[in-house]
Amino acid sequence: MDITGKKISILGAGKSGLSAAKLASFLGADIFISDSSYKVECEDYKNFENELGQHSERVLDSNLIIKSPGIPNSIEIIKKAKESNIKIISEIEFAGFFTQSPIIGITGSNGKTTTVELVNQIFLEAGYDSLLGGNVGIPFSDNVLKEIEKGMNKAIHVLELSSFQLEHTKELSLEVGCILNISKDHLDRYNDFEDYIQTKLKIVELLDESNYLIYNKEDKVLREKISKNKFIPFKKSDCSAIRIDLNQIPLKGLHNISNISAALAIAKKYSIDISHIENTLKKFKPLQHRLEYVDTIKGVTVYNDSKATNIESMVAAINAFNQKMIIIIGGLAKKESDFLSAIRETKAEIKFISCYGESGDYIYENLKSEFNCEYNNKFSDAVSKAFAECEKEDILLLSPGCASYDQFSSYIDRGNNFKKIIVGLA
Ligand code: ADP
Repeated sequence: MDITGKKISILGAGKSGLSAAKLASFLGADIFISDSSYKVECEDYKNFENELGQHSERVLDSNLIIKSPGIPNSIEIIKKAKESNIKIISEIEFAGFFTQSPIIGITGSNGKTTTVELVNQIFLEAGYDSLLGGNVGIPFSDNVLKEIEKGMNKAIHVLELSSFQLEHTKELSLEVGCILNISKDHLDRYNDFEDYIQTKLKIVELLDESNYLIYNKEDKVLREKISKNKFIPFKKSDCSAIRIDLNQIPLKGLHNISNISAALAIAKKYSIDISHIENTLKKFKPLQHRLEYVDTIKGVTVYNDSKATNIESMVAAINAFNQKMIIIIGGLAKKESDFLSAIRETKAEIKFISCYGESGDYIYENLKSEFNCEYNNKFSDAVSKAFAECEKEDILLLSPGCASYDQFSSYIDRGNNFKKIIVGLA
């Protein structure tokens, strides 16, 4: 696609919109940025022609519109753009037009960030110019611009794709697609579970005939939905090919073995030597807020798994330990969350459950018949209560199984707050 001298309107002055603007401008296009809000996070929009507080007709004076996925298709300016036959695409689609390098797309309900980080580091270890982007917070356009500017000739793009991004991506060609797992999450945004499953499966449509889908054979939903022979299944036992002791690496739990198996299957597709995978695993540090070791205080080992915002990730964390544990759960529960059935099925020895936040009350009511638990609305109170219940050699685990927005701005904010409280207790 040659965009030299073409007019491009960018709807939404967020991180990815601005990144697309930089790439488009580098490639010689004339940029106009339009955001309906006056509150724009980053000042970089000022480097381009722009308008804030509205989407005026000026947006329509363009050959192409790049729209942030958060902007609904129902707004007036989008309707008019469609009437005028102006092509509307997402930032990911736009960036994809300007790279010839392989693109690996990874999706799933849980484990995306951990797995893309692993895959990226494996490729770097193997000598590729691996570029990690997408839902991890680095716009794909940033990486494509970097690739062009540096004239990389061994580039490979590793993209984390959320279901939201998949909904808005049709024109992207993946060399490898990977689905880690599908469980009930974000059901407030979809009609039902089937609708959410179909969105995740959209990744298949981004592969052409010669390319591959790598999927988790141990996932119930994926096993039912994916049957084509040419697709490559992965399973936890694939990790037996790895010659280091996986019990000794800091990535804990069977769910991480599953993530490693996915990375292994992808690396295998590129004939990457197993030693590169082993070296990566030896060095790999768990990401913050994902079963992150915090400290050992008075003999109690503390883990922060604030990113566990749904039931499955919470269950995965609980099952990662075989010591006695005290857990903190709560926040804003996702639709159709059944905490009692989920926790009942874990293998752990749970001594106490400290419930907090907007959904904490109902979770407590749900659990109290079978578990020793208590409800405190305030997060800090729930953490203090949990710690008070701990004895030497116990595990204290924050794995909330709920979104954080009732008391925090994000799971990061919640996790940082937790760590601060823990430091205070020490
Ligand atoms: P995502 O990017 O899909 O949200 P992360 O790697 O950030 O995934 O992990 C999110 C949460 O899910 C963390 O609490 C983590 O411990 C847990 N988790 C990671 N991988 C898996 C998995 N394969 N199955 C279930 N839970 C997982």
